[in-house]
Amino acid sequence: MDAHPVLPNPSPPTATDVMAVLAEHGYRMTAPRRAVLAAVLGRSRPFTAEQIVTEVQTANLETGRSTVYRTLEILASVDVLTRFLQADGHPAYIVGVPGHRHHLVCSDCGAVVAFTRCPVDDLVRDLTRDTDFAIHGHLLEVFGVCPDCRDEPVSGMPEERLVQAR
Ligand SMILES: [Zn+2]
Ligand SMILES: [Zn+2]
Repeated sequence: MDAHPVLPNPSPPTATDVMAVLAEHGYRMTAPRRAVLAAVLGRSRPFTAEQIVTEVQTANLETGRSTVYRTLEILASVDVLTRFLQADGHPAYIVGVPGHRHHLVCSDCGAVVAFTRCPVDDLVRDLTRDTDFAIHGHLLEVFGVCPDCRDEPVSGMPEERLVQAR
């Protein structure tokens, strides 16, 4: 049994869960916020704010771009969403269960694996001691190529096989 599980229990929040969390933090559940919530929940892939703007505005033109951006930031601030940087450096969001986590992102297809082990904790402790900063956050993204995208043999493989066959 692993005492430090790397992967969180995957149980995405429901709309009811999220509305309860928002109410706890004093946010009113307005119609535009409800529309943003409906557009993000159930997504298992990362998405950008602009994708949500497009989806929400297709349904209801009265929800402005700034409302979508603000609502996404609110959802991130209460841990319903996690904001992270994609391999190309552009920010994206992913729906997550509450709690501190980091993400392994496929640089080809954007598939994401969340993990809860945080190697930055020790560093933050040392920095706090050494600098007297009040540290309130950090980002860590890990990039790679997922198993689905690794179907193509990596360059150099055929030559290696040739050498071994001799
Ligand atoms: Zn992939
Ligand atoms: Zn961390």
